[in-house]
Amino acid sequence: MSCLALNASYEPLMIVPSRRAIRLVLDRKAEVLEADAHRSFRSVREHHPCPVVIRLVRYVHVPRRFRRQVTNTFLFARDGYACQYCQRHKRELRNREFLTRDHILPISRGGDNSWENVVTACSSCNHRKGNRLPQEAGLRLLSRPVEPNHVQLVWAVRRVTPIQAKYIGMFFGEDAVPLEIGGRAPYQLRRRGGVRRV
Ligand SMILES: [Zn+2]
Repeated sequence: MSCLALNASYEPLMIVPSRRAIRLVLDRKAEVLEADAHRSFRSVREHHPCPVVIRLVRYVHVPRRFRRQVTNTFLFARDGYACQYCQRHKRELRNREFLTRDHILPISRGGDNSWENVVTACSSCNHRKGNRLPQEAGLRLLSRPVEPNHVQLVWAVRRVTPIQAKYIGMFFGEDAVPLEIGGRAPYQLRRRGGVRRV
């Protein structure tokens, strides 16, 4: 069980383990906004319901450097686990194919690891592109890659509860609510035959 931590401004910040959330509450660094009445933890004197959503008492500035880290886990999640050139989802790859990180402007030609320069590519497309720009290799990107919101990435790879999703939706808008609990996916891929939810 994990807890959604909001900044003092109500901006969803991260998912933290319950134990960490409880520590923050007991240290009076956070207040409980939502709790699970069916689960409880014990402090020195009493039982408390387990926090599901907490809000930090003081505003925390999250450094941009932290937000910009591009791991493959987050990169593949941003791109809906689909190759951004041939549009195939991870499930549609053939036996020896796998998802890779492609640098649009290759590193050897001065490209970097920024969110704007990396995309998910299947191993076949990555191999075909080699040390070239997409247009030089006759490939076309599905969309221009952008830096995603950190929290959107977190929920793309982790599950959130409907109550936690409510707070995410309150801050970012209904469109930001994760797909599996009824919202629209933050990233959509264009496919033959229309727009597919990922
Ligand atoms: Zn591909």
